[in-house]
Parts: sequence; structure tokens; C-alpha cells
Amino acid sequence: MHPHVKKILVSEEEIKKRSLELGKQITEDYNDSERKPLFIALLKGSVPFLAELIKHIDFDLEIDFMDVSSYEGTESLRDIRILKDLDRSILGESIVLVEDIVDTGRTVKEVTRLLMNKGATDVRVVSLLDKPSRREVEVSIDYIGFEIPNEFVIGFGLDFNELYRNLPFVGVLKDECYK
Ligand code: 5GP
Repeated sequence: MHPHVKKILVSEEEIKKRSLELGKQITEDYNDSERKPLFIALLKGSVPFLAELIKHIDFDLEIDFMDVSSYEGTESLRDIRILKDLDRSILGESIVLVEDIVDTGRTVKEVTRLLMNKGATDVRVVSLLDKPSRREVEVSIDYIGFEIPNEFVIGFGLDFNELYRNLPFVGVLKDECYK
């Protein structure tokens, strides 16, 4: 294990097994749809999960990426700024939005609204992790990898100060690493 890691919450094997299950489920759910969904991943955290997940999707698909940052706007309402936009129009498309973790729910809510404004017909959300105890806004997540307790996690795409994204598991850092 990495010397900075206090404990592993979700192991590499568990991530692989669950990604396979989710991939099969998504494949099945779009079985009857003539138009297959476009997979949109949010940079940078969801990249390892996207790569693992799409290995198990059994139809031809396209992927695209968005990078957004949230900031406090007026009256403490969170707003999002697009740092990298989609490569092409999504008018009339079904979307599967791929996230690393849903925490307060604000990112998923705002990005879903944005994608609908761009003309998507429907947006389903798949997230590797869900921290329901931290939710501030209501969001529906269609496919959840793992529900986790209220702890700050790193690994498998998730960072602390841009590090630890390459760890093959999801874990918690030792307290001294946050100093
Ligand atoms: P939300 O908008 O749901 O509050 O936050 C979503 C984003 O916050 C995630 O995509 C992720 O970048 C970040 N985030 C939330 N919880 C954690 C966590 O435990 N660890 C890390 N590394 N990032 C987190």
C-alpha cells in the first residue's frame, strides 16, 4: 500500500467487479434504444472509471469530456464555469454522464442542466462513488458504484492537491498528509 494511505475503502478488485456489473446493466438498459448514448466524463477525476466502465459496454459508443469548476457566486449560490467544453453538438443526443463522486450533488445537478440546455434529450448519471450524507441538492444518480461514508477519499482518479489519482484503489490519506 502507498505510505500516505491510512486505509483502503474500495479495493482494485471491487472496482473492477462493480464496473463490470454497471457496464452490463447500462448495456442492457440501452438494448432497445436505436440511438446509443454519448458518454461524457468530467475531467479529471472520472477518467480511470470511464476507462474501466466502457470496457464492459457492449455497443458502439462515443466519448467526450468536459472540465468544470464550481465557485461561490452571488448570495452563496454555487455556479459552474466551463474550463473545457464538449467537442461537438449534443442536440438530440442521449447522454450518460460519468462522475467520480457525487458529494453535495451540485456539480451533477448543474452539468445535467447545462447538457439539457445544449439540447440533450435525456441525461443519465453513473458515478463510481456516492456520499449521500453530504447531499445539499436533490439529484438522481442512475448507476452507483459504491456508497461511502463522509470521508475525504483519494485514488482511482480522485486527488488531493492533484496527487494520488493513479492509485488503483479508493482510500483515505493519513492525517499528516493534509498538513
Ligand atoms: P459535488 O458538486 O457533488 O459537491 O462535488 C463533486 C466533486 O467534488 C467531485 O467531482 C470531486 O472532484 C470533488 N469531491 C467531492 N468529494 C471528494 C472526495 O472525497 N475526494 C476528492 N478527492 N474529491 C471530492
